[in-house]
Amino acid sequence: MRVKLVAGNWKMNGNLAANQTLLAALPPLLSGLTGVNCAICAPYPYLAQVEQALKGTNIAWGAQDVCQYGNGAYTGGVSAAMLMDFGCNYVLVGHSERRVIFGESDPVVALKFAAAQKAGLTPILCVGETLAERESGLTEQVIARQLDAVIGNSSVAALARTVIAYEPVWAIGTGKTATPDEAQAVHAFIRARVAVLDAKVAAGLVIQYGGSVKASNARSLFSMPDIDGGLIGGAALIADEFAAICHAA
Ligand code: PEP
Repeated sequence: MRVKLVAGNWKMNGNLAANQTLLAALPPLLSGLTGVNCAICAPYPYLAQVEQALKGTNIAWGAQDVCQYGNGAYTGGVSAAMLMDFGCNYVLVGHSERRVIFGESDPVVALKFAAAQKAGLTPILCVGETLAERESGLTEQVIARQLDAVIGNSSVAALARTVIAYEPVWAIGTGKTATPDEAQAVHAFIRARVAVLDAKVAAGLVIQYGGSVKASNARSLFSMPDIDGGLIGGAALIADEFAAICHAA
């Protein structure tokens, strides 16, 4: 049985004071919630604050990116080992904003995935097509390419210790959500592609949907058979909204 995961991606938002308010509000709203995993992915400088606030609660935390290399002469980098030092369970890998704005290629994403896993983190591997790709009928081809880069560099067995987030780029931060049927079709495609290599890994693979998920649309998305929770951007900055999405899962 797969356990749904709802993870908040704060992106490059927040400050000490605003975070404290959000972090104080969440645990009481989520305490007692069972049968679903909840997590927050925060900017690096606030991981210590998040760790202190969430330690001992049923909310896990993680980061939004990780360096593909281990500790050493990589100015500005943050290693997976450093994230472990701050109690992180999760790290986003290959978010479309990293791929598009910061030019992360499939091979770099695959290295980051491997570095995260090697250190004991659970990577949340983000995949998704742009609007132009969808309109050209390339959705499955793009997702397959992004997925295969990681499987090729690690192995299909590595997916047993990971989460995949399907995030159509055209739905991120736009208010435009994929319909439950549109999202389900891609989730089923991902699971089937993995199943060709390893049916057991595919059956246990948690595949989140991300892209303008809100409390008002979460339930219909999460009720689809292959949608195992969500990766939540904007709505994760509002305690009541994020908690309602977790409860919907
Ligand atoms: C995201 O940042 O991964 C995301 C899905 O953002 P939003 O929910 O704001 O579309």
